[in-house]
Amino acid sequence: MDRARFEHLLTRRASRRQVLGVGSAAALAAVVSLPGRPSRVLGQGTPAASPVASPTFGANPFALGVASGDPLPNGVVLWTRLAPSPLGGMDPVPYDVRWEVARDEAFAEVVQTGVAVAAPTLGHSVHVDVTGLDPASVYHYRFLVGGEESPVGRTRTAPAAGAAVDRLRFALASCSHWEHGYFTAYRDIAAQDLDLVLHVGDYLYEYPAGEQFRPSRYDPVREHAGGENRTLADYRNRHAQYKSDPDLQAAHAEFAWVTAWDDHETENNYAAAISEDSEPTDAFLARRAAAYQAYYEHMPLRPSSMPIGPALQLYRRLTFGTLAEFSVLDGRQYRTDQPCGDGVGVRCPAALDPNATMTGPDQERWLLQGLDASAAIWNVLAQQTMMAQLDTDPGAPVEVPLDQWDGYPAARNRILAHLASRGIANPVVLTGDIHSAWVNDLKTDFADPDSAVVATELVCSSVTADNPFAPALGLLRGFNPHIRFYDGTHGYTFCELTPDAWRADFRGVTDVTVEGAPVETVASFVIEAGSPGAREA
Ligand code: CA
Ligand code: FE
Repeated sequence: MDRARFEHLLTRRASRRQVLGVGSAAALAAVVSLPGRPSRVLGQGTPAASPVASPTFGANPFALGVASGDPLPNGVVLWTRLAPSPLGGMDPVPYDVRWEVARDEAFAEVVQTGVAVAAPTLGHSVHVDVTGLDPASVYHYRFLVGGEESPVGRTRTAPAAGAAVDRLRFALASCSHWEHGYFTAYRDIAAQDLDLVLHVGDYLYEYPAGEQFRPSRYDPVREHAGGENRTLADYRNRHAQYKSDPDLQAAHAEFAWVTAWDDHETENNYAAAISEDSEPTDAFLARRAAAYQAYYEHMPLRPSSMPIGPALQLYRRLTFGTLAEFSVLDGRQYRTDQPCGDGVGVRCPAALDPNATMTGPDQERWLLQGLDASAAIWNVLAQQTMMAQLDTDPGAPVEVPLDQWDGYPAARNRILAHLASRGIANPVVLTGDIHSAWVNDLKTDFADPDSAVVATELVCSSVTADNPFAPALGLLRGFNPHIRFYDGTHGYTFCELTPDAWRADFRGVTDVTVEGAPVETVASFVIEAGSPGAREA
């Protein structure tokens, strides 16, 4: 959610999207089938052309840091991207990059090593899908090229399948806007003892320099480079600018990340092939392809997620022994257009259309089948927009933000009814997008305060992205009795899971416009296993 949507939330202006029709599946299919995409093996060890043997760089080419992600019991993805300056500076030729995985930080006990190709077609990014590692184990990794060494990263594999796991700790984060503040929350994440970081979208914002400050409430603490992201070069440079941040680099280097995008990695409030601003479908899909490729190039995703045109397989499942299973959802790529626009208002009849979908039918089927098959104590839906109903007006009828699940109530109710009817163990929905922290009871009937709580929703605040209407949002609790907590402080949510309980600490940065400001726990909630709904700890 961005500033424009907050303005909608309080002023209820009609959305420009309301005048648009449904997206073109045929146009999407045409672009998806375009030939000439990069080979799936690039960046994974097979040279496309003869890599440069002994390259020299004007500066250390690892200026964007290192990362790891998507831990499995036997492996993890390692990432880096060669860029001597954050905005590039590479010759358009492939380079051989050596990688090393060790048990210790000094690399005395190297357990695996190999060579991956950093290809110019993928922005000289490197994605190594390391396998053959031990479960539930800490490893250290680094990259080497032309006599230059990367920073050392640390990662941890997932526990063995079926293993009893005492504890899992992770940070839930979303909505980091370069111009709105310093990434102090990421620095605080890096200082924790975590198994992983879960980022549920708006990792960056596509806006041009300073746009969100005209007219200005206050000055940006730092400015985006360039205009609004539209081309591959634009998106690459924006990712690189964000990755130049030392706090973000530290959080990536410390822990494996699991990432899922929301809208701003591409464009505010887009839905599948439909842009916010009525761009022609073909042009928007070309833009989406650029955004998705840049996202792949900068995230520790498996090469199996390499985009094909404007399509990227992002939804996936990660399991941590018998303790927790995460279904990581993609709420943007397969959406039907917001049935009643993307503003705030009374639901139009089209909202009740059972074909209106946030996930698309394939992902929804995959989600429900996966939940049925899960043996985990905690079943997590890691996703983007708020699932709880958010009535914004004290009178009747209900008026809701239509870009979130409130705009797709039939799809929401199918998922919640499935959780209830199948008795899915301890479902917890994790959410970002709304730039504020919430704890919600999820129900199949939000109109009935006495109806059963089906699942618990934890919403993390934004790392920095602006929430100018924070006090007003808090007032909504008064007529949304399923909301148990609201707080508008920027930050993230620390989660600790055991077989008996899930603890959530809402960490708040006292001032994101001051570098290194203190971070404190604003509130703590606990979900007892077997009893949906969180209570204040
Ligand atoms: Ca968003
Ligand atoms: Fe956001």
